[in-house]
Amino acid sequence: MDRVLVAGAGVFGVTAAIELRERGHPVVLIDPGPLPHPLAASTDISKVVRLEYGADEPYTALAERAIEGWLRWNRDLGPLYHETGLLLLRRTPLAPGTLEQDSFEMVSRRGHRPELLDGAAVRARFPAWNAERYRHGIYDPEGGFVESGKAIARLVAEARRLGVELREGVVFARLLEQGVGIISGAGEAMAADQVVLALGAWTPHALPWLAAEFRSTGHPVFHLAPKQCDAFLPERFPVFCADIQNTGYYGFPAHPEGGVVKIARHARGRPMHPQSPQRSVTVEETRQLREFLASTFPLLQDAPIVHTRICLYCDSCDGHFWIARDPDRPGVVVASGDSGHAFKFAPVLGPLIADAVQGRPGQSRFAWRPGLHPARWEEATRSQT
Ligand SMILES: Cc1cc2nc3c(=O)[nH]c(=O)nc-3n(C[C@H](O)[C@H](O)[C@H](O)COP(=O)(O)OP(=O)(O)OC[C@H]3O[C@@H](n4cnc5c(N)ncnc54)[C@H](O)[C@@H]3O)c2cc1C
Repeated sequence: MDRVLVAGAGVFGVTAAIELRERGHPVVLIDPGPLPHPLAASTDISKVVRLEYGADEPYTALAERAIEGWLRWNRDLGPLYHETGLLLLRRTPLAPGTLEQDSFEMVSRRGHRPELLDGAAVRARFPAWNAERYRHGIYDPEGGFVESGKAIARLVAEARRLGVELREGVVFARLLEQGVGIISGAGEAMAADQVVLALGAWTPHALPWLAAEFRSTGHPVFHLAPKQCDAFLPERFPVFCADIQNTGYYGFPAHPEGGVVKIARHARGRPMHPQSPQRSVTVEETRQLREFLASTFPLLQDAPIVHTRICLYCDSCDGHFWIARDPDRPGVVVASGDSGHAFKFAPVLGPLIADAVQGRPGQSRFAWRPGLHPARWEEATRSQT
């Protein structure tokens, strides 16, 4: 079996290492560490898991398989995935072409049981919301959030248990000139039969031949301490998207550890390098959040912000992942382009990447597609503002 070197132990790299090991490959996994890496996108208290991708059936189907995987990992690796259900509300009526309407039709057609909601239902069941403003939407009992940093820690332990050789403190510097393998930051030549480059937002900076295909962008994350924690418990405040195509805002119920309410924005973001000194939330981003809270969650408008973070996406030009063999570099697979929505797919990412390593056919939208630069991201929830 081919020896595989995986560079990067975020969710793309560690799930690939586990799957390749389970398929019998000897695997070396390198990362600067410590793991979970504090600057990695995968390292956080929570990430949304949802079936809802509008009329996009391939992602909905992939999310169905991912949720089965999270339920399995809850059993095998301990609780990680919290099925709070998902609330998608908007300020204008549902209509064909809107995320909420298209998602409702798609997941219903696939046998799931989302509910349509009106203002009265929002007021009665989800009292923290401004039901005067958000009177239209759907609630899906499936979906919720995963504790992503905890998941990475458990997956790294699982990789070790399976016999993956984990080399923390070793970084990818460049590919070997002759043969397949890499040169590490310390100048060590590390030969392998196949190399997987899963470098997240570092991808356009570490792989210059792909600088035109990816962009690393920073996105604000806020943790708030609600005064009335009860109003933000999952049964009354499930994971939500607040007219996300137009506002970009989404968030989580009070976290099981510490009770903070996390709110973030899935929008254009700010171009920046993962190690940029500008990696902090701006006054303007904080002002925009307060404005959003005032019009959406009156109980949170003055809640103290107890933590902020800028987390980075590796944006592909169309918003789809990039999981493919490099046609010009034999033995090299690039697994990146998360575009801010890949963590939920962790249970199926490893198999997708291992398939690419083994030369098995993959999803065409994740293929090697240089120069494909559509005018807008194609992922349904992403606000283009
Ligand atoms: C604000 C924010 C919110 C998000 N919310 C959600 C959500 O709700 N739901 C969802 O599904 N997804 C969400 N995502 C997306 C999700 O976090 C990413 O899709 C996923 O974590 C990307 O994983 P990755 O392995 O590509 O990158 P990362 O997790 O960043 O891992 C990359 C790894 O590469 C390592 N590395 C870097 N350079 C080198 C080198 N030279 N050599 C070796 N290793 C190296 C780093 O140390 C790091 O460990 C969000 C992302 C952000 C930023």
